[in-house]
Amino acid sequence: MIVVVKNGTTERQIENFCDWIRSQGIGTHLFHGDFQTVIGLIGDTMKLDEEMIHGLDIVESVKRISDPFKSANRKFHPDDSVIDISGKTTVGGDIFAVMAGPCSIESEEQILEVARAVKASGATMLRGGAFKPRTSPYDFQGLRADGIELLLEAKKETGLPIVTEIMSATHLPLFEDVDVIQVGARNMQNFELLKELGKTRKPILLKRGLANTLKELLMSAEYIMAGGNENIILCERGVRTFETYTRNTLDISAVPMLHELSHLPVIVDPSHATGVSRLVKPMALAAAAAGANGLMIEVHNNPKAALCDGPQSLTPEQFDDVMKSVSCIIDAVKATK
Ligand code: PEP
Ligand code: MN
Repeated sequence: MIVVVKNGTTERQIENFCDWIRSQGIGTHLFHGDFQTVIGLIGDTMKLDEEMIHGLDIVESVKRISDPFKSANRKFHPDDSVIDISGKTTVGGDIFAVMAGPCSIESEEQILEVARAVKASGATMLRGGAFKPRTSPYDFQGLRADGIELLLEAKKETGLPIVTEIMSATHLPLFEDVDVIQVGARNMQNFELLKELGKTRKPILLKRGLANTLKELLMSAEYIMAGGNENIILCERGVRTFETYTRNTLDISAVPMLHELSHLPVIVDPSHATGVSRLVKPMALAAAAAGANGLMIEVHNNPKAALCDGPQSLTPEQFDDVMKSVSCIIDAVKATK
């Protein structure tokens, strides 16, 4: 349920109202916009008397929200959310976030070389997998804790905030100095993991599952937000279809649809979406044109020798070219606003 508060209502009155709502076992979510204050009521609101609330002095209007996602809903929070990344950058707002780096961290030399290169090309964050969700147990599983150590070294040298994937809540202590924790497609509905991440205040990059709807993606975001962590970045990374020339099918319409449904920032991963390095640039441009808040792109200093996802990885030179073209699209998008 959404309660729009009358202009001129004092903070004290709003607090009293929220206390009263909470005393009935219902959560409140306060949003102060430039022109309106909105209170989102979360929980079993069927037990509330809508007419009675409407009659209160401070209430302008009351609306029931039928969507199952509440905290992630734009109706509860009309302005775009801007996620702060360790005070160094943001995702959302005026910044177009670019998380770039190898699929997996392979060695000190590899991660440092890629980190320096993507920074020079304008990436705002460094990505690298330490715990890898591989289809085969016989494939390279990542350097695990040692991989995080190497990523931290690259962070120290370049100053770039780092993004890396978590596969088990038991690994959380290793993620203390990680700036953005990624939940990969395969774990999008690992609800116990999502609940644990809800207890942290770390920015979470939540990737869409291989065959999940946007509603399911938003419900997974809701799991994290229900625990009190509102720092969520959504990521469209393609879904599985009958097509076989590409690894997945990139759902570009997910970007404007998610923006309509939710206030959370949305980025696009054209690398996993296509699985083909030459398709990364056109899809990155399409994502920027569709209004994405950023990109996640796999970059490797020697894609042919990569231990994971070489065919979709860009060389640092190709990444530099993508960055230049993307910035033209961002300027064009700004000019249409
Ligand atoms: C990744 O980003 O390294 C990854 C495994 O992606 P996804 O979960 O989207 O497959
Ligand atoms: Mn990968």
